[in-house]
Amino acid sequence: MDKKKARRIFSILAGRYPDRWARERYAVSPFEVLITTILSAQTTDKSVDAVRDDLFSRFPDPQSLAMADITEVEDIIHATGFFHMKAKHIIEASRSLVERFSGTVPDTMEDLLTIPGVGRKTANIVLYHAFGKNMGVAVDTHVFRLAGRLGFSESKNAEGIEKDLMHLFPEEDWGVLTDILISHGRAVCTARKPACSICPVSHLCRYYIEVTGREKQE
Ligand code: SF4
Repeated sequence: MDKKKARRIFSILAGRYPDRWARERYAVSPFEVLITTILSAQTTDKSVDAVRDDLFSRFPDPQSLAMADITEVEDIIHATGFFHMKAKHIIEASRSLVERFSGTVPDTMEDLLTIPGVGRKTANIVLYHAFGKNMGVAVDTHVFRLAGRLGFSESKNAEGIEKDLMHLFPEEDWGVLTDILISHGRAVCTARKPACSICPVSHLCRYYIEVTGREKQE
């Protein structure tokens, strides 16, 4: 896909989801952004929102979460799914923050990737939402699916998709791009059944054009 077409898709979707994923939504501490992002894997915003108040009022900082009893954490975050693994990750991540970063969340990709439970996707989200840094494009399951359907990337792995998206879009849009693709993936272009008939970018979408064999009139 050429950059001009990618830009048109971006503009339409950015207009469609103006604030749902605005950075201000995460106007909380970098610690909360990090822990919330780890909890967000494979689940909905709603289930994370349902547990975060309890979790952060009981464990407001890395020091307290590092010392937490894992069964208590599992009980609190149960609704987010995969709670054994997530409880282990957020406790270990907190220990790492306390032991290696003086209880603060580092603001570089290099350091973030050394924290247990943090991969490139989580690191990109933390860098953007906690520090306003665009160091890459976070490729979660929605971004992965939409990049392929829309025709942004031919790659079949997250690393290749991230590289293609970073080439296609200007650096200042990388964080927002993830957010609007996630919003669109949840609201319209779902994994099970994309609602192409109500999609504002169907006329530009490779999947739609291939399936219908025609371009929709703007
Ligand atoms: S046209 Fe269909 S497949 Fe393409 S982005 Fe929209 S909902 Fe997804």
